[in-house]
Amino acid sequence: MKRICVFCGSSMGFDPVYAEQARALGTLLAERGIGLVYGGASVGTMGAVADAALAAGGEVIGVIPEHLSRVEIAHAGLTKLHVVADMHQRKAKMAELADGFLALPGGAGTLEELFEVWTWAQLGLHSKPIGLVDVAGYFQPLREFVDHMVDAGFLRTEHRDVITVHKDPVALLEVFANHEPADIAKWVN
Ligand code: AMP
Repeated sequence: MKRICVFCGSSMGFDPVYAEQARALGTLLAERGIGLVYGGASVGTMGAVADAALAAGGEVIGVIPEHLSRVEIAHAGLTKLHVVADMHQRKAKMAELADGFLALPGGAGTLEELFEVWTWAQLGLHSKPIGLVDVAGYFQPLREFVDHMVDAGFLRTEHRDVITVHKDPVALLEVFANHEPADIAKWVN
């Protein structure tokens, strides 16, 4: 695993544990020699994960759309910052640069990015691992809903299981290291 893309919030969340765990993840990636790819902002948990990775000597690559570089305040101290034209290019670039995807707690943007790489995996467009860092049980309601999608017949269990959920990022990196791309194309019964 050379680089991991981390989807995370432009907000910090109310509980300080969200920022703490974002920093812990940034430090962990740097210590493991894994580059961080992320949204390129200096705000929210995005800024927290990037600052911690940089402070620990890690490689940090940001990808930010031009129109957001002021709103989300592009991080000035990154190893590399790609300024792209729009949101679509941002996601495509982040996906291209990374060997796996992790999501920290975040808002609609974080979920949008997560759902895109999940649906791409489901369609067989990539086979990179995806994990959720379940800080303070943040993702449990989503997990319940995803189970509901399976129960209701809208999602296959093997597509649900493309995403690994764990509170400990070390465990997620372990899963990523042992990841074997599965052939689970959606349209084949
Ligand atoms: P949020 O989780 O809502 O704080 O947003 C996290 C990141 O996702 C921010 O950098 C947003 O700009 C980004 N984002 C929001 N919507 C989209 C989208 N449709 N495509 C790509 N990135 C997005």
